[in-house]
Amino acid sequence: MPRESKASRRQRGIEFCARMHERYPGVQSALDYHDPFTLVVCVMLSAQTTDAGVNRVTPELFRRWPTPEAMAQADPAEVGEVIHSIGFWRAKAAHCVELSQMIVSDFGGEVPRTMEELCRLPGVGRKTANIVLNKAFGICEGIAVDTHVFRIATRMGFTRASTPAAAEKDLLDLLPHELWTYVNEEWIHFGRDTCTAQRPKCEGCPCADICPSAFKATRPARRGSAKGAGRASSKGAGAGRGKGGAGEARGRKASERSS
Ligand code: SF4
Repeated sequence: MPRESKASRRQRGIEFCARMHERYPGVQSALDYHDPFTLVVCVMLSAQTTDAGVNRVTPELFRRWPTPEAMAQADPAEVGEVIHSIGFWRAKAAHCVELSQMIVSDFGGEVPRTMEELCRLPGVGRKTANIVLNKAFGICEGIAVDTHVFRIATRMGFTRASTPAAAEKDLLDLLPHELWTYVNEEWIHFGRDTCTAQRPKCEGCPCADICPSAFKATRPARRGSAKGAGRASSKGAGAGRGKGGAGEARGRKASERSS
């Protein structure tokens, strides 16, 4: 197969985004959040867990600790009791308290608005920061590459990267800035309903004519490791932002270690 020019790949990328935008107009996150603080907590909690699972625990979580100031005072063990039904709840409970403490102590009680500052928060890495900047503040600095975005970008031939961070760089280089804001949510929906990890539905895919993997991709596209891009299975009502290996949600930056 002849090597594709960058111009051709860029054209396919723009066309793919246009078709995604047409197919999923106005898609929103399934996470229930009210403000930047609850958003950053929800996204952090959603690693390796479905959005529906997060939405089941957050009403009580935010009822008891609705603000950074309140959650900064919380006992991680009590937070853990509230969120124990979701994956890696111990590390996430600690992150809830620690990131709240940092928001209060370092940022005057307000969720910071820069990538660098957001990535200082415990449990928050580039993927979560991209989502928070985009959804809470309308700032689009990058593209949140989770397991769906990573898989689709690989199958579409937009990247040959082995990590989400490298794949994000390729996508930022490929796509015009004005398209970045839509990629995460729209491609996640496409990854759930059509370009699924196992047995993608190429027969009914609106992009089969521009996809180099059409009718060839039957297994998850794994180049090296996509760990860190993980997003939990979308079984059930929603899919959370998951992580790759089980160990990735442990310790500081647990939910985002390699995103
Ligand atoms: S043609 Fe198949 S592999 Fe390609 S984007 Fe569509 S569903 Fe995915």
